[in-house]
Amino acid sequence: MSETPATSEESKDKSQLRQKRMIADHFENLARAKSEGKKVVYTFVPGNVTELLGALDLLPVLPEINALQSGMRKRSAGYIAEAEKAGHSEDVCTYVKCDIGMMKSGNIGPTGTKLPNPDLLLLSYTGCFTFMKWFELLKQEYDCPVAMLHVPYQTDGKITPEMRAYVVEQLQRDVIPALEKVAGKKLDLNELSRRLALSARAEEDLVRVWESARHRPSPIDGYFGGVYYVGPIFSSFRGTEDAALYYQELREEIDERVRERRGPMTPDGEATREKYRLVVEGPPNWTSFHDFWRMFSREGATVVASTYTRVGGLYDTGFRHDPSRPLESLAEYCLGCYTNLGLPTRLELLERYIRDYQADGFLINSVKSCNSFSVGQLLMLRKLEERTGVPGGFIESDLVDPRYFGKANIENRLQSFMQVIDARQNRGQPPEPTPPPQPHRVSLPVIGNGGQP
Ligand code: SF4
Repeated sequence: MSETPATSEESKDKSQLRQKRMIADHFENLARAKSEGKKVVYTFVPGNVTELLGALDLLPVLPEINALQSGMRKRSAGYIAEAEKAGHSEDVCTYVKCDIGMMKSGNIGPTGTKLPNPDLLLLSYTGCFTFMKWFELLKQEYDCPVAMLHVPYQTDGKITPEMRAYVVEQLQRDVIPALEKVAGKKLDLNELSRRLALSARAEEDLVRVWESARHRPSPIDGYFGGVYYVGPIFSSFRGTEDAALYYQELREEIDERVRERRGPMTPDGEATREKYRLVVEGPPNWTSFHDFWRMFSREGATVVASTYTRVGGLYDTGFRHDPSRPLESLAEYCLGCYTNLGLPTRLELLERYIRDYQADGFLINSVKSCNSFSVGQLLMLRKLEERTGVPGGFIESDLVDPRYFGKANIENRLQSFMQVIDARQNRGQPPEPTPPPQPHRVSLPVIGNGGQP
């Protein structure tokens, strides 16, 4: 998640320039952290408690963000090979292998500077078992303390008072004392609340940006463009003035696009037609991100909503961080992360997006790496088609392993999916029936061909 493409430095929007500077400053701060005596905490995107870290002057490092940035910069294949050489199986989540490989290759971060070793690993466990294994591996390498926040899974789609109290108790008893010990100071609850108020401001503006996609044409792409929009709020900046200003500027820029009836930016400039409105479930592929995006934008397909862009916080269902209930609100945030939701709740959310954003179709990108996302997706496909009457498509790729991005295969599937939409809308001739999706991984390209068909 860095600044959006297709724009020269001079033509970048204010929000893009701000995000670029924020990222650069953060990595410079990390590069100087050890010499300046600053402490560093590695933690995950879903269920992050960034405001708490910020209130204690701790600098966060998010391994998933480093992995995806390595993927976008075409460095992940080498890092994954490094991890596989060290014995990590082909089946392991490629974010993990990319991170391990990066660490073994000198821990050089996305901007080319060395990342500092962690002073603490903060494991916020929100539904993905891999998080636990990942930090077990990092613990062996770094030999630093680990604090764990166990977040109960939302099996029934509800946060009960007991669940909230259980998380708050862990924050008070385990997590805050562990962070205070590393920081060498006590938590100031007023400072935490100040940061949470800034988070709520940013969240309000981000929801306005998501909801702009109800317009025709949608002024945003809520998946490919959306991953840039969530950069600050999902990573190290939630609860900062900079993030609040970034979302204010972004909202103003998008409001202007709505007024001018302009479509979203794409890798090839501004979209000039909106032929298909899609909802997408599942993370994107990062190693061929722009090629993947172009497969949509060149067909006139705009993604009006996606679940991946909710993985670090589900604000459009009403949640906001609440400065008057700091710890309870952090607990509710962690409990409400997309990775922590059961299948029925995920289905309801997708159904709502399809209806609210008047989608012509929905697409599932099933990534090899992520069981947390991919489990149950074929069932979701069937159920969503039954419930909405809107056609669904199914493709397979991976997060940061280029061996699993079969360009021709994905392109063929997408084109037949769009023909199905055309046929439903009587735009063209009825297509040949699309073969049903195969069980996960069967149709992947041959490993070792560099992702080329
Ligand atoms: S399996 Fe999925 S949720 Fe878990 S660490 Fe990997 S990418 Fe993240």
